[in-house]
Amino acid sequence: MERLNSLPLRDDLRGQHPYGAPQLDVPILLNVNENTHGVPEDAREAILKAVDAALTGLNRYPDREFTELRRALAGYLGHGLGEDNIWAANGSNEVLQQILQAFGGPGRSALSFPPTYSMYPLLASGTGTRYIAGERADNYDLSAASAAEQVSRHAPNIVILCSPNNPTGTALGADVVEAVYEAGEASQAIVIVDEAYAEFAHTGTPSALSLLPGRERLIVSRTMSKAFALAGARLGYLAAAPEIADALRLVRLPYHLSAITQAAALAALQNSTSLLANVEAIKVQRDRIVQELRGMGLRPAPSDSNFVFFGGLQEPHRIWQGLLDKGVLIRDVGIPGHLRVTAGTEAETTAFLTSLRTLLAA
Ligand SMILES: *Cc1c(COP(=O)(O)O)cnc(C)c1O
Repeated sequence: MERLNSLPLRDDLRGQHPYGAPQLDVPILLNVNENTHGVPEDAREAILKAVDAALTGLNRYPDREFTELRRALAGYLGHGLGEDNIWAANGSNEVLQQILQAFGGPGRSALSFPPTYSMYPLLASGTGTRYIAGERADNYDLSAASAAEQVSRHAPNIVILCSPNNPTGTALGADVVEAVYEAGEASQAIVIVDEAYAEFAHTGTPSALSLLPGRERLIVSRTMSKAFALAGARLGYLAAAPEIADALRLVRLPYHLSAITQAAALAALQNSTSLLANVEAIKVQRDRIVQELRGMGLRPAPSDSNFVFFGGLQEPHRIWQGLLDKGVLIRDVGIPGHLRVTAGTEAETTAFLTSLRTLLAA
């Protein structure tokens, strides 16, 4: 980063570090919450066919409005949503960036509640939005009363809730979203609920999608990167009032979703049953990790996602390194005494648990 000092970089970017989850070449990758089952054969074939068909028109710019894709995403979400309620971009990270570009920016602020997704402060800084780090209880819970009080006190322009939360894994109750939305009335705050892991939630966990009617400042963000096993395709999307999409049209780059991306995502949605077939198996491994970690005397947080955040480690770095030496990469999210692991296939999960048990005994 020293080299940067000689460049006329923006002052507010000096000394900052880029997003940097390690990308290492090891056999078992359980560090960035991907779906490790891969893309099923029938979905692969459908995507290949759709991309092949898109090649015919590749000399032309793609549909700037990606109407067919928006219609398919609305159909997938249900909740009475139509294509006008949907917006999409290259990963939900780009969707979030566009929201910050449109509703944040210089002189404006965004509040979220760490420990949470490490990209929120980076997206804020990239768009010149002041980032406000809210607070959680000692056990990382966020109550409706506490969240609403913090929103009233800081009067932010944007609030980002993450549910299920990364890195802790726990989903928020609908009461938290409702309370934050109401408390944001005074500052007319845009309230984003990042539901990147919604498909992995325990049965009965409500989605903020059901809160959209009548709440024009509420945005629910989703992605095809996790449950759909399409992290490499880069397709994130949101559901909100149609005027939110109109606002994002002002900041998106023209033709930001390539014809190939649109074709691949559309084919994937037409094969969603097959792509989502492994979600239940992943949830079984997730619950197994929670149970076995407890048995080892560790403290896993309740998880509604495809990963488990756990504390009670005396030497987290030794454990992280020891696992890596055995070919298992998990995530050190920088919280003392804690690590985070993605629920993989049964075999990957077994390899992780076996290695961890050995390391704890050493
Ligand atoms: C993985 C993740 C995303 C997904 O980002 P994409 O850009 O869609 O790949 C979004 N939010 C959270 C909290 C995540 O953990």
